[in-house]
Amino acid sequence: MRIFDPHIHMTSRTTNDYEAMYAAGVRALVEPAFWLGQPRTSIGSFCDYFDGLVGWERFRAAQFGIRHHCTIALNPKEANDPQCAAVLDILPRYLAKDGVVAVGEVGFDSMTAEEEKAFAHQLELAGEHDLPVLVHTPHRDKAAGTRRTLELVASSGLPPERVLVDHLNELTVQMVADSGCWMGFSIYPDTKMDEHRMVGVLAAYGLDRMIVNSAADWGRSDPLKTAKTGWAMLDKGFTDDDVDRVLWRNPVAFYGQSGRLLLDEIEAEPTATFQGNSVLRGQRPTGQE
Ligand SMILES: [Zn+2]
Repeated sequence: MRIFDPHIHMTSRTTNDYEAMYAAGVRALVEPAFWLGQPRTSIGSFCDYFDGLVGWERFRAAQFGIRHHCTIALNPKEANDPQCAAVLDILPRYLAKDGVVAVGEVGFDSMTAEEEKAFAHQLELAGEHDLPVLVHTPHRDKAAGTRRTLELVASSGLPPERVLVDHLNELTVQMVADSGCWMGFSIYPDTKMDEHRMVGVLAAYGLDRMIVNSAADWGRSDPLKTAKTGWAMLDKGFTDDDVDRVLWRNPVAFYGQSGRLLLDEIEAEPTATFQGNSVLRGQRPTGQE
């Protein structure tokens, strides 16, 4: 199983995670710029974080045999902080860099006027920089947030195939399917969407424009949820080719629109070769999930 995790925050994960992900088949990923939990108090904090995403984290992932890409944006939550608005002015500098494969995460958190303004501005930036866009949908009031998201995308004039609308569930998938945008699903350990419900969505809606991610960060999350979704698909009769399409070819097709994906194999450093249990060696555990 080869896996491209199209949404994972590796900055907040350990080297054990990189080893386990490699063993499970992850060979490439996208790390979207996001909120850091602690509010930033200056523009310099954003610059250092963005520099880390295009520099240090990319290098760190390569040591474990994984190709790292990122998306850059002012995140929805901090769009509400007037101190952070000036970040919009430094984004063009980052959007020009190798390894930056989209504008994101943009979108709504609490659906405020400030969020909407930053969202619309960054949709424009995506057009100017000829990059796709990763859009976060709010965890509260998801249906209304997704509907308003699709209105803004439509009025931006961006082609829907350049937009990935993420964190969907059974209630929001249909409207995004109808819009022509790509559909992203974050698979969580015990809340929101899980891998078994995800398989149900794939059975109902097909595999076209469907993208699955772990969205792992510093909260309770699981960087192997992509692999676990693949295993759950096989259990329900999907083929290896179906799994490859959802976990590799679809995200590669979406982010490949940037012209900046690097997907040739890299060799993990010998010191990173892991001698762990069967899960971490990428074998499917027996008697679980
Ligand atoms: Zn995220």
